[in-house]
Amino acid sequence: MTPTVDLAQITAATFADARYGIFINNEWRSAQDGKTFTVENPATGDVLMTIPDAGAADAQAAIDAAYAALPAWSALPAGQRADMLRKVAALMLERRERLATIMTLEQGKPLAEARGEITYAASFLTWFAGEAERVYGQIVPANTPNKRILVLRQPVGVCALITPWNFPAAMLTRKLGPALAAGCTAICKPAEQTPLSALELGHLFVEAGFPPGVVNIIPASNPIPFSNAIFDDERVRKISFTGSTEVGRILITNSAKTIKRMSLELGGNAPFIVFDDADLTAAVRGAITSKFRNSGQTCICANRIFVQRGIYERFAEAFTREVAGMKVGNGLLPDSNIGPLIDLPARDKVQRHVENALAHGAQLLTGGTPLPAEANPTRTFWTPTVLANASTDMLVAQEETFGPVAPLIPFDDEEQAITWANDTPFGLSAYFFTRDVSRVFRVAERLEFGIIGANDALPSTAQAPFGGVKQSGLGREGGSVGIDEYLEVKYLALGI
Ligand code: NAP
Repeated sequence: MTPTVDLAQITAATFADARYGIFINNEWRSAQDGKTFTVENPATGDVLMTIPDAGAADAQAAIDAAYAALPAWSALPAGQRADMLRKVAALMLERRERLATIMTLEQGKPLAEARGEITYAASFLTWFAGEAERVYGQIVPANTPNKRILVLRQPVGVCALITPWNFPAAMLTRKLGPALAAGCTAICKPAEQTPLSALELGHLFVEAGFPPGVVNIIPASNPIPFSNAIFDDERVRKISFTGSTEVGRILITNSAKTIKRMSLELGGNAPFIVFDDADLTAAVRGAITSKFRNSGQTCICANRIFVQRGIYERFAEAFTREVAGMKVGNGLLPDSNIGPLIDLPARDKVQRHVENALAHGAQLLTGGTPLPAEANPTRTFWTPTVLANASTDMLVAQEETFGPVAPLIPFDDEEQAITWANDTPFGLSAYFFTRDVSRVFRVAERLEFGIIGANDALPSTAQAPFGGVKQSGLGREGGSVGIDEYLEVKYLALGI
């Protein structure tokens, strides 16, 4: 039986004392032109908050604030910057329940996943606090006795950080952690659908003692005024963007104007390969986790599930049994595994992919429809779906579905699996399950992806470099290299 949860009461209590605005210089401001926009709950359609809608003048004010704060922040000893980052991480963990509730309310993911994201998001601040203290230079042997060669690493400067709605906290801290650790200041632009998670973090930065102007957060319903402001302004030295490949392409073009450094974490089309010799239980569990986390709305989620013919029937049966048992519902209900999709266009894409697959010969093993109307107030809930005998030419294999749809594609041998897996312009993450250690190396080395999970469906962690090749992006976030994206290398030639 579904436990009783008073959803309206949770929403009211969460936002009763909430104070959000455009966050500049540690102040909560209205938009200069007085505009506002609403943030809605994708599970109910209810308005959660009405907040200021930043325009060009607000973006400019944020750049001014970040630029003014830069000299003192970058001059602060790294240990002090690290202490403040650790303090925000500790506050995030202390307030995890509140932060997770806000996330579920505005994004829709099940509360357990939102809690997990807050912990994951905090880990980037802790990790990069450590890295702040390890920004080393070099002294290189010169080829003349009266010369010394020194290599310094210095903060890039003011950074604009643009994040998507699917991981409203972690995508932000994965950028803010290294930027602040390196000594940069930041202007953050959260997605229109999920600004509250970011703004709530603003309060924690104030509480942790961050000086005014170091972190600025600009909620907006239209990204273009913000985008124009940062690309036109010479003082913004770096853009870090996570989102669609389509928008990434626009940002690369825009960056030509004032030659910005760019980091781009873009879309994926992850293959998930199950070889005949895989541990079936582990492969099924892995595929469930990879495919259905956040209702399939993750950039590294399995998009194409290739299953070798010798294990195909057993995998399809065990996988479908698990999927059919998943519970779709409001993310605040403790037994929900699958929340709503973010909006109707996302729902329509899922429907288009399913219909296209069925029209081209796939068979439906479970799901395939939206939830019935009485349980689907926003029409964005989709039942987790498994499609058998899908093929590589279907939309569901060609495009990132970004929804709870798992196409199973049978394959014959290792060569075919690798060829099909690589046959995409994207190269973010790939997975395979096998017990053969030689195959682990053979396949991992040939897959053209930035992240490979071999018998591991959850590779994301602050300690590892995250990022894609091909049209999935430029640069890496996390790991020991993550901070390099926010550092310039300066060469000092010294005659003595
Ligand atoms: P999106 O439409 O590209 O938006 C991402 C962010 O960019 C939002 O804040 C959006 O603002 C902003 N934006 C849109 N157009 C812009 C422009 N012309 N100039 C400046 N900013 C602009 O992506 P999304 O739908 O939110 O996110 C889903 C996509 O992100 C998927 O493709 C997914 O694979 C990808 N993703 C990648 C990673 C990774 O690490 N590689 C991680 C998560 C998600 P508005 O919200 O105001 O439009």
